[in-house]
Amino acid sequence: MSETIFTKIINKEIPADILYEDDMALAFKDINPQAPVHFLVIPKKPIATVNDIKNEDREIVGHLSLVAAKVANDLGVAEQGFRTVMNCNEFGGQTVYHIHLHVLAGKPLGWPPY
Ligand code: 5GP
Repeated sequence: MSETIFTKIINKEIPADILYEDDMALAFKDINPQAPVHFLVIPKKPIATVNDIKNEDREIVGHLSLVAAKVANDLGVAEQGFRTVMNCNEFGGQTVYHIHLHVLAGKPLGWPPY
């Protein structure tokens, strides 16, 4: 797959407000927040969309949720609650083709999301 802006963030070629990092994942604040707290959790392995997740990626993809909950807890928003969203392709609203878990929190969120 072609490189996205998130690869540049992983490689520290462009700045991001990083909240957490380990060998498998990176969490950083969304540049255009849609809630008082809005960060993204991405795998370091570039996977374009949810459709491209392979069986061998199970540990990586599961890890994203663990990181989401850890960072939400660190930011003090876990108990009130938060939403995780992974958009897929055009109708899902995906704009960056490197999978990422959105984590939105800090206010009651509406449902359905349109
Ligand atoms: P998508 O629309 O693909 O689900 O979400 C992509 C998200 O990445 C958007 O919420 C957008 O604001 C965020 N984003 C795009 N470019 C950058 C960037 O350069 N830095 C950061 N921190 N977030 C970005």
